[in-house]
Amino acid sequence: ALTRTEVSTRARAAVGEIEAVTAFFASLREMEGRDDVLDLTFGNPHEMPLDGLVRAITAHVVPQTVDWFAYKANENEPREVIAAALSSELGLGFAPEDVALTQGAFGAIALALRLVGDAGDEVILPTPGWFCYAPMLRLVDMVPVKAPLAPETYDLDLAAVERAITPRTRFVVVNSPANPTGRVYPREQLDALADLLEAASARNRRRIWLLSDEPYRRIRFDGVPFVSPAACYPWTLVDYSYGKVLLAPGQRLGYLALSPLLPVPEREALREALMPVQLAMGWGFPDAIMQYAVADLEDVSIDLGELTRKRDRMLGALRSSGYRIGRPEGTFYLWGDAPGGDAARFVAALAERGVYVMPGTLFDRPEHFRISLTATMDTIERALPAFDDVAARLVT
Ligand code: PLP
Repeated sequence: ALTRTEVSTRARAAVGEIEAVTAFFASLREMEGRDDVLDLTFGNPHEMPLDGLVRAITAHVVPQTVDWFAYKANENEPREVIAAALSSELGLGFAPEDVALTQGAFGAIALALRLVGDAGDEVILPTPGWFCYAPMLRLVDMVPVKAPLAPETYDLDLAAVERAITPRTRFVVVNSPANPTGRVYPREQLDALADLLEAASARNRRRIWLLSDEPYRRIRFDGVPFVSPAACYPWTLVDYSYGKVLLAPGQRLGYLALSPLLPVPEREALREALMPVQLAMGWGFPDAIMQYAVADLEDVSIDLGELTRKRDRMLGALRSSGYRIGRPEGTFYLWGDAPGGDAARFVAALAERGVYVMPGTLFDRPEHFRISLTATMDTIERALPAFDDVAARLVT
């Protein structure tokens, strides 16, 4: 085993940022080998993969030419398909050259950080938010700066963002629809954030970029409209993953896209840097088969009607058991207050009954918890009595 000193400072800092997640993974080992487990933790599939996904992959798995499995970088066809789809979805004119193909949103975020970030740069992370931003930043010697979202509504809190800005700020991350809160930020908030970032960039004489992390963009309920920050602030990099809408996060496919509003000189410089930086990162492109499959995957999605039914069933039942829990506008998560106020105790009490959820400690909120609605309706039904019992026990 490596001794402590043999692990790099960067690696140690990254490991330190993700301790709560590692501890949670370790705690889940007790689920192994039990057949009475009701797993509501991660956004993983619990049913067979979508037919459309399986068809798209199998259609391209048998080689048709000698270079079928040759090195693939940012290939033209998938870039064109994505640029066209993004343009109609976001109402902005993306060109194929604005799109870099990546190994999911993870790959796209890593690319964005390396493309315009430098060691020591600060990145503002609205909190509660996804637990992988901070370790990813540490690994490139960048500094996470947490800024709370508005209490209760989980709207962007512009005053908190303003307070977090320093001369070293390089990025603000916006994740809409948001993990874990399910909030989809309306245009007014994004416009106000754009004004704030424009003024702060001028004051700092250094551009503050917006990283728009949009892997849940197509997973919205009740027709809630989506506006991308790319439409409000030209210095926006959009990252996307197909892993959520296809519910197949192990088949890595995503992209980073430059806002079409970006002024020409900056856009040219970034376009030129995309391929070499992806290469320097260690060949950050999706595998050949996933690149061929892009055209067939654009219209494939999990069943949003079924997801809505699961959200409504779970929300209704939990609220009638006394839970304070938000109504998500997007994503496949529910986010609520842990009864009794201590997520660790609550999660342990549920686990005793075979029901597993994610404690808010992973999101810097030790009084909350998250449920993934990617479990089946049957799992949800079977888990509800445990939620009811545990709430009654912990609140009294
Ligand atoms: N961003 C957010 C907010 C996420 O929740 C996730 C995955 O959980 C990702 C990015 C990474 O997505 P992928 O694994 O599809 O690359």
